[in-house]
Amino acid sequence: MQQFQQYIGGVFSDGSAQFESRDPATGRIWAMMPEARSDDVNAAVDAAHAAFYAPVWAGITASARGKLLLRLADLIAENAQSLAKLETRDTGKIIRETTAQIAYVAEYYRYYAGLADKIEGAHLPIDKPDMEVWLRREPIGVVAAVVPWNSQLFLSAVKIGPALAAGCTMVLKASEEGPAPMLEFARIFDQAGFPPGVLNVITGFGRECGAVLTSHPKVSHVAFTGGPETARHIVRNSAENLASTSLELGGKSPFIVFDDADIESAVNAQVSGIFAATGQSCVAGSRLVIANKIKDAFLARLKEKAEAVVIGAPDDVATEVGPLCTAGQVDTAIDLIKRSEAAGATLITGGRPLAREGNYFPPTIIDCSDAPDATCLTNEFFGPVLSVLGFDTEEEALQIANDTAFGLASGVFTNDLTRAHRMIRGLRAGIVWVNTYRAVSPIAPFGGHGLSGHGREGGIQAALDYTKTKAVWLRTSDAPIPDPFVMR
Ligand code: NAD
Repeated sequence: MQQFQQYIGGVFSDGSAQFESRDPATGRIWAMMPEARSDDVNAAVDAAHAAFYAPVWAGITASARGKLLLRLADLIAENAQSLAKLETRDTGKIIRETTAQIAYVAEYYRYYAGLADKIEGAHLPIDKPDMEVWLRREPIGVVAAVVPWNSQLFLSAVKIGPALAAGCTMVLKASEEGPAPMLEFARIFDQAGFPPGVLNVITGFGRECGAVLTSHPKVSHVAFTGGPETARHIVRNSAENLASTSLELGGKSPFIVFDDADIESAVNAQVSGIFAATGQSCVAGSRLVIANKIKDAFLARLKEKAEAVVIGAPDDVATEVGPLCTAGQVDTAIDLIKRSEAAGATLITGGRPLAREGNYFPPTIIDCSDAPDATCLTNEFFGPVLSVLGFDTEEEALQIANDTAFGLASGVFTNDLTRAHRMIRGLRAGIVWVNTYRAVSPIAPFGGHGLSGHGREGGIQAALDYTKTKAVWLRTSDAPIPDPFVMR
């Protein structure tokens, strides 16, 4: 049985306790993970806090921070294959996807490496004659990063890259589900040459490890990715330390197809939008909003493609849909489908767990035309389940698309340019993809509205969000200070 360790202050250790990790493809225990309890969390935050003020980190130039991040990027690229295998083993995410995604994760670190020495302050044209006033941009402090199991290397890169570029130090709490790739990442990080304590990697359960970390008095910012219910805990926790928060939460993103769209292209994008990553993607296009004129033809083609998807072991390169990460997600899917069918929704394909070992659930399409209040239209499955609603007019399409408490991503398929622009304006979402879906880049910000959270990851602003300005006033006059009782 493989044994993983936590990483605190540049040292690897077993943690106060241990917990088992199960292989999602078989349901069997395959590794032991270090469980960080209060003492470990406190040690990790202390290490990050000490590193924040240590001259070996606080005293180096921004360009030197960038070079360390570049070295890290190169090491990730060199180790992409072994990291991909570990992520596949521990989370069930298919090897095709982990291999491609981790290679691209290196690009996120390269992007923020390049940005490190472009985080600039400003000189202010102050309204007083004998003063020079400027803004320094300084790192915000110790950052607590908390991530869910899906795409942990990616979801942590969009936090670690900008936070370290800005000069912060961090404690990263990997998910208790599938933490192996993050604990292995710590070993790679250790080789990059950062001073000890700059990044600490722990894992453990939300109620102890997560709660102690996110309410810790030495934490200045909490960068969270996960579900809205946990986000509420995080916000309550952060009331203790008055830390700022950035919240990247879930979605129920609309995928809108007009009758003038390139149908084959839209069908393929919809397959990718909901069945890729076995539906465990925060940007999953999980609500198909389809023009009634083409609904039957579109669904027939989509059903054909969904039923042809290769379901199999996640480490098989031929596999297109693998197991869900946890058995609990299969139960959630069964429950939401049962409730939606009871409300009048009709299964087009899938909908029942597969009779095989592991957390397998097939690509599923459920038509909600006769059940506009079905729970499958409002609740996030985090699985390969697509809910469908038809529309007759553009206004109706927009109204259905925006009828959600979330607001992360959206997709519009149309060949009508002016209509595309009207939809872009009207959609309440942090991302609008037009005639494409599920494209990401370190250069483009990512984040949502409403229950999808606040703050943006990716892009230049993300690095600025890990800084605070300091206004510096310097008096240039040699004359004695005048009347001390008058503010100038
Ligand atoms: P989750 O919210 O249950 O857990 C996320 C993390 O929070 C885990 O590390 C967990 O241990 C920790 N946690 C739990 N309780 C805590 C507490 N009280 N205090 C501090 N930390 C606590 O999420 P999940 O179910 O593991 O992941 C799926 C969710 O993540 C989905 O809703 C999905 O949409 C969302 N997600 C969002 C994005 C995005 O970028 N917007 C990306 C991926 C996943």
